Formats: sequence, C-alpha cells, structure tokens
Amino acid sequence: MERETLHRFKALFESKRERLLYSGKLVNEEFQLRPEDLSDEADLTSSEGETGMRMRLRNREALFLKKIEDALDRIAQGHFGSCTDCGDDIGLKRLEVRPTATLCVDCKEGQERSEQLHIDGHRFKSLGAKMKFV
Ligand SMILES: [Zn+2]
Repeated sequence: MERETLHRFKALFESKRERLLYSGKLVNEEFQLRPEDLSDEADLTSSEGETGMRMRLRNREALFLKKIEDALDRIAQGHFGSCTDCGDDIGLKRLEVRPTATLCVDCKEGQERSEQLHIDGHRFKSLGAKMKFV
C-alpha cells in the first residue's frame, strides 16, 4: 500500500478515535447524573430502559474503538491492508467502505457464515471484552 494512502487511513482512524473518546466521556457524565434524576422520577421502568440503551451504545462504541486501535497497530506494524487470515490484499475499494476490515472478502464471507451459527456466544464474549476494555 502506498505511503500516502496509509497516512490517509491513519488520519481517518485518529480522528474517529478522538470523536469516540470524546462522546464516550459525555455518556459517562450523563451516567453520573442518573441517580439524582431517578429520585425525582417515579417512572423507573422507562429510566431503566434508557440506561440499558445507553449501555448497549457504550458497548458498541468500546468495540468500535478497539477495532480502530487494532487498525492503528496494524498500520504501525506495516500489516494494514493485508487479510489477517490468508495474507492477501484486502483491497483499497473494500477498505474505503470498511476501513477497519481485517479480512479479505472471501475470508469475511466464510467468517460470517460461521458467526451466524454462534451469534449468541459472540455477543456474550463481546460483553466480556468490553468489561476488560473499560
Ligand atoms: Zn483472506
């Protein structure tokens, strides 16, 4: 991959990471306000629903952030743009659409087929990873 292209991706990941870290902080601050809100609000059910939604959002952000960190690592190590499974080029077209892609189209299709079978297990593991990460 050309140096210039690599730099463009690096800048993209860095700006995405900054935005995520910033929005993550905002979510945390809102979390800290929750107990006070709760004492004023009789409607616990809707508050719990909201908190659950925020936590899911936070979990997704944490996973996305992890992907970005991984991509930056791969850029630093010179592996960015190569499929982590077969080693082929992922292809610039695919990376433009999905910058955090680590697999070429062929390997990704194979992975998606097997993920579909274990989707509940994966979701559980993702939660565990988030706990460690945060
Ligand atoms: Zn591959």
